[in-house]
Amino acid sequence: MLNLLRRTPPPDPLAHPAWPELGRQMPLLSGLGDCEWWRLEARMRHFLTNKAFHGVEGFALSQRRLLQIAAQACLPIINLGDKAYADWNEVILYPHAFVNRTPWRDEAGLVHEGEWVLAGQARQDGPILLAWPDAQRGPILDGRNVVIHECAHKLDMLNGTANGFPPLHASMHATDWTRAFETGYVDFTGRLARGETVPIDPYAAENPAEFFAVLSEYFFELPHLVHDQYPTIYEQLRQFYRQDPGERLPLIDPPSLF
Ligand SMILES: [Zn+2]
Repeated sequence: MLNLLRRTPPPDPLAHPAWPELGRQMPLLSGLGDCEWWRLEARMRHFLTNKAFHGVEGFALSQRRLLQIAAQACLPIINLGDKAYADWNEVILYPHAFVNRTPWRDEAGLVHEGEWVLAGQARQDGPILLAWPDAQRGPILDGRNVVIHECAHKLDMLNGTANGFPPLHASMHATDWTRAFETGYVDFTGRLARGETVPIDPYAAENPAEFFAVLSEYFFELPHLVHDQYPTIYEQLRQFYRQDPGERLPLIDPPSLF
């Protein structure tokens, strides 16, 4: 007698009554064409099926909340493929900003210790940590998106410690990337040093890795601002992420100057 084993297919993580309306209400996703939307959903299915999600310090996970995280996390990789996030497996969610006491090593190899109150963190060879209040506000188009920020760090870490130089596509040129980002970073830190108001979060001046992660947030939320301020960086990000948010999002005035 032949026994046929039939595997039950896993439930579709997007089969939630709130989806896709939940996504349609996210300003971050506005303007996506049918093909891009299809790719976003494919990435989200893979992301939600292959990552482990942990709510800590009393944070209650729900499918609705996971969909909100997944939509933001997967937007940057709609044209990069699921493998772009294959190096990490966990997302840890806090109900509030969290304190980090993990010693960390900077680009120069120096180990730093102390306490930092964080909205998010991407750990080398480890999980992404997110504070829900900040992650929940992410889809608003204000240039701040902690989920995209931490995911940009993870892309940066694909070739080692995050340093603002992720692995580039074969069609891109390292010299173009380096010239654009170094020139932009020197300009940005110089403006801050001179006491000028800037339309981009000054946290970008922390180091080149943060500059790349913060500029990635603005690229997906206020693309016209990045294009206006740093057009060569915009072009490099457009090639890197293989999409052009400036073509699909409305022109929005930055909400505040720093
Ligand atoms: Zn960062």
